[in-house]
Amino acid sequence: MRAKTRLNCPCGVHVAGADEDDLVSRAQEHLREAHPGMEYSRDEILFISY
Ligand SMILES: [Zn+2]
Repeated sequence: MRAKTRLNCPCGVHVAGADEDDLVSRAQEHLREAHPGMEYSRDEILFISY
């Protein structure tokens, strides 16, 4: 299965990573900065990634 490295946050921000681990950490960083109080697990982040 191809690694998921991109996701579009519902707020309109595009997050991209070098690989799945990088994408998850970047997505969690965006959530901390832009959406305080919203937390997603690795599985949840990868579920909405492509
Ligand atoms: Zn966002």
